[in-house]
Amino acid sequence: MTDILDGKALALQIKEEIANEVRQLTAEGHRAPHLAAVIVGTDGASMTYVANKEKSSHEVGFTSSVYRMSETTTEKQLLETIDFLNNDPDIDGFIVQLPLPKHINEQRVINAISPDKDVDGFTPVNIGRMVLGEECFVPATPMGICTLLQRYGIETAGKHCVVIGRSNIVGTPVANLLSRKGFDCTVTMCHSKTQNLPEITRQADILVVAIGKAEFITADMVKEGAVLVDVGIHRVEDATKKNGYRVIGDVKHSEVDAKCSWVTPVPGGVGPLTIVSLLQNTLKAYKKHRK
Ligand code: NAD
Repeated sequence: MTDILDGKALALQIKEEIANEVRQLTAEGHRAPHLAAVIVGTDGASMTYVANKEKSSHEVGFTSSVYRMSETTTEKQLLETIDFLNNDPDIDGFIVQLPLPKHINEQRVINAISPDKDVDGFTPVNIGRMVLGEECFVPATPMGICTLLQRYGIETAGKHCVVIGRSNIVGTPVANLLSRKGFDCTVTMCHSKTQNLPEITRQADILVVAIGKAEFITADMVKEGAVLVDVGIHRVEDATKKNGYRVIGDVKHSEVDAKCSWVTPVPGGVGPLTIVSLLQNTLKAYKKHRK
């Protein structure tokens, strides 16, 4: 029997918990937490992500603002906006939606975000603190994956966790977090140069897939009874859908799910928890600023 790690349902539950806390804070006369987002250009997926973050912010009672900048924005202009957000006492946390246009140096932009407002957890300071096990903002997607495993009571101690992907926003931080005290997994990290990938993935008690290739993981690559976390998001054309597309993951769920003990569906698995983690980080930033 395969059970579902239902990110959508869990996200609703956590959002309700956050909303209750915000209601209480505002009833006591405090201002609401404020999350801002910066988006440069008009990339469809990025606009959808930012719109979802804005909607979720409103749902939990946060103040939300979006800074929409044109595709031709210069790096200097973007850095000026970041400087403004860093210094605005009414903004608790903000994100810069990635990817940025090619003419802007992404790392320089990330480095300019104040670590105290870096609710995406992308700055070197927060990543460093995370690796040292210090208080920090953990990147939203890895944090969401950890929350899913924790809240569903998945046993992780001593389990072999294979992470596919080594990006700074998913693979690397999730591998670090799951190997730390509390999760205590034995972690293997795979990437594009890994040899004999199926041989390694077949050893995974917990398989986290963040590879960015649609339906790459097939049934022969997964151990019977594994816990499967599919981070991938891909839009594929689908004329039967009203919006003309459907969303699929990095895993071929039609053949893989039956072998697993637990799976995250796509959509409705990791995605909703990513947004919730951002809200949790913003609430944490707000509390720190109030202190
Ligand atoms: P990325 O492209 O930055 O990284 C992909 C990683 O996969 C790389 O480290 C690469 O080494 C590895 N890889 C590529 N081909 C491989 C192969 N053949 N064998 C083994 N490893 C290989 O991607 P990312 O930003 O980490 O995102 C991964 C996926 O997760 C994407 O589909 C992305 O859209 C999705 N994503 C989802 C969320 C969410 O909230 N659900 C958040 C972020 C990213």
